[in-house]
Amino acid sequence: MSSAVLCQSSSCINGNPPSRMECPTCNKLGIQGSFFCGQECFKAGWKTHKMLHEFAKKGIDSGSYNPFPNYGFTGTLRPLYPLSAKRAVPEHIPRPDYATDGKPLSESKEGGAPPRILNAKEIEKMRTACRLSREVLDIAAAYVRPGISTDELDEVVHNATIERNAYPSPLNYRGFPKSVCTSVNEVICHGIPDQRKLQEGDIVNIDVSLFYDGYHGDVNGTYPVGKIDEDSEKLIRTTRESLDAAIQVCRPGALFRDIGKTIEPVARANGCAVVRTYTGHGIHELFHCAPNIPHYAKNKAIGTMKTGMVFTIEPMLNLGTNWSEVHWPDNWTATTVDGKRSAQFEETLLITDTGVEILTSKAISS
Ligand SMILES: [Zn+2]
Ligand SMILES: [Zn+2]
Repeated sequence: MSSAVLCQSSSCINGNPPSRMECPTCNKLGIQGSFFCGQECFKAGWKTHKMLHEFAKKGIDSGSYNPFPNYGFTGTLRPLYPLSAKRAVPEHIPRPDYATDGKPLSESKEGGAPPRILNAKEIEKMRTACRLSREVLDIAAAYVRPGISTDELDEVVHNATIERNAYPSPLNYRGFPKSVCTSVNEVICHGIPDQRKLQEGDIVNIDVSLFYDGYHGDVNGTYPVGKIDEDSEKLIRTTRESLDAAIQVCRPGALFRDIGKTIEPVARANGCAVVRTYTGHGIHELFHCAPNIPHYAKNKAIGTMKTGMVFTIEPMLNLGTNWSEVHWPDNWTATTVDGKRSAQFEETLLITDTGVEILTSKAISS
């Protein structure tokens, strides 16, 4: 049996001029920098031929590849590896306890403790961390456009964070490899920035959190990439509206369980389902702590809001009626089970004597 063999040189070993033709075995185009001559080149040998087939399968022709080729993806999005090298945080920047080994020990220790009431000094520090988080998110959002990779967005977030003498909270939190979560299209949350470039019509959530002067701020938003379809527009609008409605109910004495009771009707009325697995959370010196805040109706969250409590509300809404999720083999990326799109918005909130202060709100320009 004879078969055409990949030639690695810029011209075929048979001396034929280079051309890009489909390999008769894998039906893929010849890899970059190598060419099929269209003749049978037995001299090149089967070993090289098979090796090049393996490369082609992994997509190494473009230097990047899908690390989970056998995973049953629910939508059309694919991871694009290799991930970039771990970004460095300058030595002088104070870091949370998990920065070195990935283990948030102080968080585990406080597990089960009731929500803390912050004093005036702590509240001031939260204001600063949250203001910086919003600044970094807005900077990153301004870079969203077709052709930018989520890894490049990670670089923008990382640099803007360390420029502010802050540590990017996601970096090495429980082993997370990057400085921000970027969740595209059907990704619900915790997407890992990689080499994939955003495409016209995508939506992308950027979830920025940072640690400054001992306190974390946490804020996210979902952004259109170029022109998006009507359903995606509706999804983004509804998700933002559901968060704004939930913030409206926050005041001393309000029940944590009423947050979900407020969000779900807004979602349902617009053909969206509320994700149940991921919740809002308390935040201060710890990245994630009590209270735990479900975003769906008829939840059993306990407790009432009190002046001085700080927590996030961060509803994730899926188009359609399916609220559940599956995870990619990276053990982080959560996607919808039906491949439909998902959006999220998040703010960090402080309960005050008179109501609520959005610590991560956009600066009011003077
Ligand atoms: Zn967040
Ligand atoms: Zn959060």
